[in-house]
Amino acid sequence: MYNSLDIKPHIEGILDRAIKGNISHKEALELMQTTGTEFKALILAADVFREELVGDQITYIQNWNINFTNICTGNCGFCAFRKGQIDEGAYFLNIEEIVRRARKAWEDGAVEICIQGGLHPDVDAVFYEKILKSVKEEIPDIHIHAFSPMEIYYGAKQSKMSLKDTLMMLKEAGLDSMPGTAAEILNDDVRSIICPGKLKTQEWVNVIENAHQNGIPTTCTMMYGHVEKLEHRVEHLDLLRNIQKKTGGFTEFVPLTFMHQNTPIYQQGISSPGTTGTEDLKLYAVSRLMFGDLLKNIQVSWVKLGFKFAQICLTAGCNDLGGTLGEENISKSAGAQHGVYTPPDNLQRIIRDLGRVPAERDTLYRDIRPLKA
Ligand code: SF4
Repeated sequence: MYNSLDIKPHIEGILDRAIKGNISHKEALELMQTTGTEFKALILAADVFREELVGDQITYIQNWNINFTNICTGNCGFCAFRKGQIDEGAYFLNIEEIVRRARKAWEDGAVEICIQGGLHPDVDAVFYEKILKSVKEEIPDIHIHAFSPMEIYYGAKQSKMSLKDTLMMLKEAGLDSMPGTAAEILNDDVRSIICPGKLKTQEWVNVIENAHQNGIPTTCTMMYGHVEKLEHRVEHLDLLRNIQKKTGGFTEFVPLTFMHQNTPIYQQGISSPGTTGTEDLKLYAVSRLMFGDLLKNIQVSWVKLGFKFAQICLTAGCNDLGGTLGEENISKSAGAQHGVYTPPDNLQRIIRDLGRVPAERDTLYRDIRPLKA
């Protein structure tokens, strides 16, 4: 389809190779820089490739977020969620309250709860274990998607346990999968500017590979549009692609466009005010072409993009619209307009208006139920 456009033969050659699942780091960077007709061809090629790989279904999940504390000893410059222990608005949910919210989520139709929190000084791996056991005891069938690689790394250190023992203990207690958050941009020069206290690139990779090797699948993410260059975005995608080749443990890729408004790095003039729409579209399209059939699920975040633009991004190679999100605090704190629960019908409407088929899924994309019109 894209071949009918009048595009530079060189770019056409890259796209032809890309939809055969064969695109190099250097070629991906060239695609990230396209404008005009070449940009349109890129979006079309990613959409054609999406159709070949996963068809016309757009999935979403009924889920609920539980952010158990916003008290954090971290210092990420892009974070507007964290609070100090005595700051106004600081909170720390007790286990009973976490279980109560999980039960409410389950009764409201959620099949997954995503549990994450700040790096509270009193939290350790044993506390995470307690959360998991308490929730599973009350609601054994709910899928617990919990704890970022940073939280796992922090919890293990706090408990003086090895990464492997921590992961095994948490799996045993009911950890079904993990969010691949805290990835931001996996380049240590960028990390030293935006999140100097966070785990380094190789440490993030270690947690993720350890999780995969111990039977805990994870998502993978990228937070982009702050201080990084296009090269860093491609480097990040390439690194994720290599992990996936090795372990096959990623279930989906979730690009997260930077929400700048209330964040320290924007307020101090260090970061850009986020991406433009074409940058987002190119990121989605290039990731579809780079991952090929290694990782088939690419998610659009309606929380970050808003419903209207999220719908447009579904035409750039994406096949998932994320979750209904019973409770969402993190993006909201950073200034996102969207982010507290949307009913399934709203997501279905967006998907149907695009001429695609809505389907409800579980966390691991094993149970996918298409919905009739
Ligand atoms: S992003 Fe997470 S680790 Fe970093 S400051 Fe915010 S809550 Fe803490």
